[in-house]
Amino acid sequence: MPEIPLPLGKGDIAQRLRDRIARDGPISVAEFMADANAHYYATRDPLGGAGDFVTAPEISQMFGEITGAALADVWARAGSPADAIYAELGPGRGTLAADALRVMRRVGFAGEVHLVETSPALREMQAALFPDAIFHERFEDLPPRPLLLVANEFFDALPVEQWIGVEQRAITHDGTRFVFTIDGPIRESSPARAAAAAALADHLARHGGAALVVDYGYGSGEAGDTLQAVCGHAFADPLAEPGEADLSAHVDFAALAGAASACTVSHVASQGNWLETLGIGPRAAALAARNPDQTASIAAARRRLCDAAEMGQFKVIALRHPDWPNIAGLGR
Ligand code: SAH
Repeated sequence: MPEIPLPLGKGDIAQRLRDRIARDGPISVAEFMADANAHYYATRDPLGGAGDFVTAPEISQMFGEITGAALADVWARAGSPADAIYAELGPGRGTLAADALRVMRRVGFAGEVHLVETSPALREMQAALFPDAIFHERFEDLPPRPLLLVANEFFDALPVEQWIGVEQRAITHDGTRFVFTIDGPIRESSPARAAAAAALADHLARHGGAALVVDYGYGSGEAGDTLQAVCGHAFADPLAEPGEADLSAHVDFAALAGAASACTVSHVASQGNWLETLGIGPRAAALAARNPDQTASIAAARRRLCDAAEMGQFKVIALRHPDWPNIAGLGR
């Protein structure tokens, strides 16, 4: 995973990128994205209505509960190993962990909570929810124990390289603004994501466990230029204000699966199908029965999470130790 520079004040990150370009020449899209996002996440809570974007766990508790039920189920079928830990990559506000662990604790999972998070601002929010959580800068620092791991909208924030033919696309500054050095038909690749997936697979193969990766992206083929900036719930120019907008790019799930070949990898499911298969319908009905005044908003949340035109198109993939059972709904 990329090394995270120290957080700087607003504006400083753009100046620092300009200085670096003036000194060393154009920087790759991946370097720009890594620096801009490190600053962006380190300095704010980007989630929710007042932030820049909304994620599945922030839409409804049903997302985290179903994730937790799936992890609790695989843990039980693996023989309830007492040394297994709950681990999460990029936990945001900690909402997913809170909803998942509420379900997991109910069925007897008593393992530690390990959170891989580089942002001081988000760590503070997560620590308030989980005073006993153990924090890590890097995935590689997790202890050698079986994992029950989840990563939601984590891989999309890791930097991508962009290529036009054999030339890597870079970013320079024309005196007024940041600009790309070349344009043309773009192919993306992400050594940072591949390294993170390989490290995760290696850990699972050595120490056991299962992991769920959820993100927007594509299961096969190529998607062209998918670099995007989101600010205040609207798309923005990715080069306009580095460090002030969320930069992300679609996750290539075939590449991720390929990088994770040290462990057993499931097929790629759509988030909508996976949540429906695992019972979001009955869960929504049970919640609505207990909170009749919220029936409409619960139904709306389910649609937002599951409809193919909305977050239902997101993808889910499971990784596991070959001797661990598959996560429900995610067979080979
Ligand atoms: N999973 C949460 C938050 C998604 S936003 C949710 O679904 O709501 C992306 C998260 O990944 C943030 O917590 C961000 O701080 C973290 N993050 C981004 N890049 C990271 C990196 N290189 N290492 C560790 N965490 C990172």
